[in-house]
Amino acid sequence: MDHNFLRVHSFESFGTLDGPGIRYVVFLQGCFLRCKYCQNRDTWDSKSGELVSIDSIVNKILNYKNYICPSGGVTISGGEPLIQAKALTNLFKKLKSYGINTAVDTSRYD
Ligand code: SF4
Repeated sequence: MDHNFLRVHSFESFGTLDGPGIRYVVFLQGCFLRCKYCQNRDTWDSKSGELVSIDSIVNKILNYKNYICPSGGVTISGGEPLIQAKALTNLFKKLKSYGINTAVDTSRYD
C-alpha cells in the first residue's frame, strides 16, 4: 500500500462535534469492528471509498485554515483510521508543519 494515499469515505468542512473548536473532519473508509450501534456502516468496507493523495487532502484543508485555526483543527474519523496508520502519520506530519491541531477518533481496533 502506498502510504502517500488514504482511502477516504467523505469530508466535512465544518464539524463542531468531533473535538474542540471548528474541525475539518476526514472520515476514512474501512472498519473491522462491526459495532451493533454503529452509525457509519457505510464506512465498513475497506475496499470502497476513494483513494486520495495526502497532498490533495492537505490542500483541501488549507483552504479552511483561517476557520479552523487556532482554536479548532482537523479530526480524522471513520471507519477506523488506524487501519491506515502509516499514511495517517504522514498526513499528521504535514498538518503539523502548517501548525494545524490534529485529533483522531479511534476504537484502537486495527
Ligand atoms: S468502531 Fe466506529 S466505525 Fe467501527 S463499527 Fe464501531 S462504531 Fe462503527
